Amino acid sequence: MLVEGAVLDADGPRPAYVLFRRGRVVEVGRPGTDSTRGRVRKVRGIVIPSPVNSHVHLGDAVSSREPPSGPVGQIVASPTGYKFRLLRDASPEQKQAAMRAALRRMAREGIAATIDFREEGRPGVELLRAAAAGSGVRVVVLGRPLARPIDPQELASLLEVADGVGLSSARDETPSTLRTVSNACRRAGKPFALHASEAVREEPDRYLSARPDLLVHLAKATPDDLAAVRRARVPVAVCTRSNALFGRQPDLQTMERLGLSVLLGTDNAMFQAPSIWRELEFAYMATRLRGRPVSAAFLANAALVEPWNWLGEPDGARIAPGTGARPLIVRLPPDDPAYQIVTRTTEHLIVRAGTERAGTAG
Ligand SMILES: [Zn+2]
Repeated sequence: MLVEGAVLDADGPRPAYVLFRRGRVVEVGRPGTDSTRGRVRKVRGIVIPSPVNSHVHLGDAVSSREPPSGPVGQIVASPTGYKFRLLRDASPEQKQAAMRAALRRMAREGIAATIDFREEGRPGVELLRAAAAGSGVRVVVLGRPLARPIDPQELASLLEVADGVGLSSARDETPSTLRTVSNACRRAGKPFALHASEAVREEPDRYLSARPDLLVHLAKATPDDLAAVRRARVPVAVCTRSNALFGRQPDLQTMERLGLSVLLGTDNAMFQAPSIWRELEFAYMATRLRGRPVSAAFLANAALVEPWNWLGEPDGARIAPGTGARPLIVRLPPDDPAYQIVTRTTEHLIVRAGTERAGTAG
């Protein structure tokens, strides 16, 4: 299949054609210069790397009811908040089925990978692994140890099955817990991630001194705080719909200006569908609504490029022969690719190279 239009990847947007053979990229070049001489079916659209949903709590998918209003702290507080009661009251089978359904939806929407903060200790990690098997979505599972103070044996056992650790927030933990978990992750060669400055501002020292590999939210961080995060070179996952539900927004404009590595996630699956496309459009519109616009390219990078860097696989965000990336074709006008992708992508516009549907689509 030949796609003519544009490519939007780690090297930015550009007019291009992409020739696929058996689902793989075999040629990329300027439109009209391909080698097919018109013998291959042509589709018009934009070719992008598969997106990554960089922050989810898929276990939360056990509930899809409208959340109660109130401070986010009370709703998601461990162990007695609304969210943890729902998790506690659901059976492992219910949770596994809910996570599997969420992953199926993500697969249909073209998500290649997701980074999950999985509560409930080692059993929680194992449940998500079982739900993810064969789903087509790679799940990076950041588990959470249950015992406080940290039980070294529990933490070691968790790190045997988890891809890393994702903690609630710096202010919910003692400095010693943060240090112990961070050190254990570093020894295991696995990432350590942390929510930070979500509902209230935290001092950057509090979360940066634990040397996290990823911070989530920073909705209450000041420009100076963000500058400190930039200096520490810590990537940030932002979740604009989740924050909006509780009346706040991250300062994306300052993040873009400072050049932070920003990733995009959809957060609690009980509050928002885990759709990166809905998140992208909302994030863009919200910055306009607040009079603090960011570029569409910045948000496209947060879904399509920065997560691959975080995963240590920058080639996953490069549309070129032999990179191993799994590109998506989106049937949108190619004139302004980042704006089109960020504001207009829906599942039904996605075509997979190498499928029958793709071959007859255009
Ligand atoms: Zn979260």
